[in-house]
Amino acid sequence: MIFHVLTIFPEFFEGPFAHGVVKRAKDAGLLDIRIHNLRDWTSDRHRTVDDRPFGGAEGMVLKAEPIFLAVESIWPERKPDQKVVLLSAQGRMFDQATANRLSGEAELLLICGRYEGVDERVAEHLADEEISIGNYVLSGGELAAAVVVDTVARLLPGVLGNQSSAAFESFQDTGHGEGLLDCPHWTRPADFRGWKAPEVLLNGNHEEIRRFRKRTALEKTARLRPDLMK
Ligand code: SAM
Repeated sequence: MIFHVLTIFPEFFEGPFAHGVVKRAKDAGLLDIRIHNLRDWTSDRHRTVDDRPFGGAEGMVLKAEPIFLAVESIWPERKPDQKVVLLSAQGRMFDQATANRLSGEAELLLICGRYEGVDERVAEHLADEEISIGNYVLSGGELAAAVVVDTVARLLPGVLGNQSSAAFESFQDTGHGEGLLDCPHWTRPADFRGWKAPEVLLNGNHEEIRRFRKRTALEKTARLRPDLMK
């Protein structure tokens, strides 16, 4: 899968994709992440990407033209499985189901807003969808884009060493019930400062372990995320 990120801060992404699962997947050629500087699609001396909002208001707005030009030059003939996502506090809430759906696309192009946001014509006439990562306002779409890339990347075939591990995580079919939280985990030492790992996990009885994990996944979901119990 190819991810494109359109941003005025390309250097921002030197960090998020340079570690762990995403880096290994990139190195293995399982995915490709291309960072594009929005200023490359400006034509004036100052490489201007923003302007004042019509109607008068605080702040600046990212202009439509460089964003349209960027997408049209990255994909001169856009295909149905090349999707444009506008990161926006006003978008639909990003969740695991959205990540699963997006992981089926061939290419995603993520537009990172800044300032007061992006000229509305981008949402109306260019983006396939607007996505928010939560009910709060970030300073820019870059952190949100990194969240989307990371979440979608780990769902791609071969990215996680053990193919079943993405399926058994929280919000997926955890094997204890679809859409629940994952069960809690412990590792060595079995006794840490007097807090003991559950005995049942140490006894090697797979059926008992399975039942224990199912029960604790349900308990934890009920306690922390009762909204998922439906
Ligand atoms: N004026 C906008 C509003 O009130 O909805 C906020 C603009 S915000 C300061 C600048 C950019 O950050 C947005 O264009 C968007 O790309 C990004 N952003 C902010 N919050 C976000 C969120 N919760 N999810 C995704 N992107 C977000």
